[in-house]
Order: sequence, then C-alpha cells, then structure tokens
Amino acid sequence: MAVVKAGAYGHGLEEIAKTLAAQQIDFLGVANVGEARRIREAGVQTRIYLLGATWSEERAEIVARDWTPCISSLQEAEHFNRLAQLQAKRLRVHIAVDTGMGRGGFVVDHLPETLRQLESFSHLEIEGIGSHLPSADEDEAFTVKQFARFHEIIDSLGGAARFKWRHLANSAGLLGYEQGLCNLSRPGLMLYGVSPLPEFQGNLATVMTLKSRVTLVRSLPAGHGVSYGRQFVTTKPTRVATVGIGYGDGYPRHVSGKGADVWIRGQRLPILGRITMDQMMVDVTAAVEVLEGDEVELFGANIPVTEIAEKAETIVWEIFTGITPRVVRQYLD
Ligand SMILES: *Cc1c(COP(=O)(O)O)cnc(C)c1O
Repeated sequence: MAVVKAGAYGHGLEEIAKTLAAQQIDFLGVANVGEARRIREAGVQTRIYLLGATWSEERAEIVARDWTPCISSLQEAEHFNRLAQLQAKRLRVHIAVDTGMGRGGFVVDHLPETLRQLESFSHLEIEGIGSHLPSADEDEAFTVKQFARFHEIIDSLGGAARFKWRHLANSAGLLGYEQGLCNLSRPGLMLYGVSPLPEFQGNLATVMTLKSRVTLVRSLPAGHGVSYGRQFVTTKPTRVATVGIGYGDGYPRHVSGKGADVWIRGQRLPILGRITMDQMMVDVTAAVEVLEGDEVELFGANIPVTEIAEKAETIVWEIFTGITPRVVRQYLD
C-alpha cells in the first residue's frame, strides 16, 4: 500500500498516484474521502484504503465507490453494513486494532468476540487486519514487542489464513523489522526517498528537490543589518544574494539563525538573518561569481532535507507536507 495522504507528502497527489498506480501496487492509502475523490478524478483505478476514521455522512459514497475503510467500532461497522445492504453490495473492510498508537482501532481486549460480531454483518467482508506503529524509528524494543503482539492477535483470531491482508508496518517498520505474518505494508516517507531510520538512507534517493533562484546580488558594508529584527549584522564587507523563496513557500522560518545552508553553483552557502515570507538572504562572499538568476537548492541531493528538518526542530514529514501550493511542482521522468 503506497501512502499518498497529504498531497503525496507534498509531492502532488495526482501525479504521484498515477506514477505509483503504474507499479501495480495493491492499495493507495489516503487520509480522507476528499483525497480519494481526487485520485479517482485523475483516472487512477487502484484500490483506495482510508487510513483514518470516516464521518457517517461520507459512508454512502465510500460504499458506492468501493473504497476500503478500516473499522474501529461496532457502530461504524453496523452503519457500513446497513448502507451496503441498501446498495445491495458487500463491502470489503479491514479491522483496525490498537496495539499502541492510541489513535484508532479496537482496543485489544475481547477481540475474538468483536470479530464474531463483525462477522455477523452479512454485507461486510472482513478482508484485512491492520494496526499502526507509534515509535518504529524511536523505540526498537517496543516495536519488536508490538510485532509479536500483532502476530498473537492474528493467531487468536484464526491465524493468517483468516485475513487476506495483514498489515502493521509504516516505512520504519518495513525497513527495520521482520514482517512475520504481515503480507502488506504501508510505507509513506520512504516512497519519497527519505528513510526514517538513517542507516537505510543510502538505499534511497530523495524524490523532491526544493529550488529557487537568486533575484539580486549586492555588496553590503560592515555593520549592516540583514533581515527583520537585525539578528545578523555584517562584521566585514559582505556579498549578499537575495533568493526568491521564504516561509510563504513552506521553507521553515524556524531555521533562521540555526546555520542552515543552501546550494548555489556547487557550493554550500549560509543563510543570513531571518527567513522572510517570500525571500531570504545568503552570504555569497566566499563563492565564485554568484549571479542573478542562478539556481538555488534549498534541499535535495546536496542539502539533505533531514538536515533542514533537524535545524527547524521538526520532522521531514512536516517539511514535505508544508511546501505550499505557490511552489510549482515540476515532474522529471
Ligand atoms: C501516515 C501513515 C503511514 C505512513 O507512515 P510513514 O512513516 O510515512 O511511512 C502508515 N500507516 C498509517 C496508518 C499512517 O497514518
């Protein structure tokens, strides 16, 4: 299952869904019905799995369009069953179990009884079982136990043969752990070329490069402030390039003053002062001939996005999903 929620992690939902659909994957994982509609409007026919809970008013459409929900409560199941009956259908659903995430799914007590009740809904087909890992990139011991727990649950419900699809792993779970009884995984971040476990980064190539261009190159004298708040003041004559990107594009303002670099003409060069909404300034004194119009890499092959996320005190998921619509997405083949 390729996870393409949040506009395919900021990469552009339709283009990424089309590209992944061509790889014969079994499911596209989305957060909500709005994303599912956009995938269908783009002409992609791959099965759609809804990763989160659904609102009651969305469910008739989910049944009609054969999207696959995960079920966290008997009330949801009862409602889906009724709607499927009205539409003379049998809806394929997955049972979600909470093995530690605390966000959705059945809490693990009395699961065999719960499954029996779910099986009594004759217009539902329980074709899968899933759970989610809260800390596969932070707590290995807990995650190993969680896999074991998930396998025990499957065994207690009739074994692997009972469920066509058995899934627990996100990217970190898929990269770093034995899958055991699981036969489906739900990678998101790693599809976009970033590993949540640094030791696997060498196996992946980052998909997104965030680029802008130099708009101005000027010489400032010593003692001249740069950007809002004058947090940076030159101590010597300084060549300063102004670059046409800022936090209004999703580049994190939080990296201001944290020593983040950009890449221009094969050189790493430091950002000066605060990031503004639409522009930032870069010290190009040490660089050879930076010119107006030069391409600037904010992150990509030369400036790892993980480095920017760290300096912004956040995670790569948030950096990617924060790139705003103003940034034109260009796709290379
Ligand atoms: C977002 C999400 C994923 C993907 O997680 P990554 O860490 O990006 O691989 C998998 N499963 C569920 C339930 C999710 O919400």
